[in-house]
Amino acid sequence: MRIILLGPPGAGKGTQAVRLVERLGIPQLSTGDMLRAAVAAGTPVGLKAKAVMDRGDLVSDDIVVGIIADRIEEADAKKGFILDGFPRTVAQAEAFDSMLAEKGLKLDAVVEFKVDENALVERIVKRAKETEARGEQVRKDDNPEVFKTRLDAYRTQTAPLSAYYQGKGMLKTVDGMEPIDDVTVAVKEILGR
Ligand code: AMP
Repeated sequence: MRIILLGPPGAGKGTQAVRLVERLGIPQLSTGDMLRAAVAAGTPVGLKAKAVMDRGDLVSDDIVVGIIADRIEEADAKKGFILDGFPRTVAQAEAFDSMLAEKGLKLDAVVEFKVDENALVERIVKRAKETEARGEQVRKDDNPEVFKTRLDAYRTQTAPLSAYYQGKGMLKTVDGMEPIDDVTVAVKEILGR
């Protein structure tokens, strides 16, 4: 299965993606994780992306499209994948569509997480605290100030993807404000597995 999880930062995409990985046995492809790894490794992509990510803006379409094009070629992604945080612009979605078409592959579903934006800042603050409590490094962009920019980027550049996928008859929505287990059930119902 090839699935896209769509929704603002803090909507629960990552949490549900991890559960889908376990259930479906296909990898989670998080462009955010890949970019953070590139930053940590100090690769040319990481060096370009760091400042943009730290301030909460979107990394250029060329960079993320290139990352995904390479990643879906890897052996573990041949059976399918769960995209978490990609695409984030209509240009990325179009590039991804062409990529799939070239390979003769099809998308199975786009699952959008509907959330109350006012609740998201609290979630992000909670996530940062939990990360800290585990003794792990807190993401630099998981703070209320940068979060505003991330949410703005979502509203202006990513939200139009709902209409984009709706137009293709691909869009399904779940209530991301429900408890985590209930969201898991809703996603399962949508995917039929
Ligand atoms: P995330 O972990 O998905 O919240 O992503 C963290 C940051 O990585 C975002 O705020 C962006 O700066 C960058 N990023 C991740 N995915 C994308 C994408 N598909 N397009 C552009 N920037 C991205």
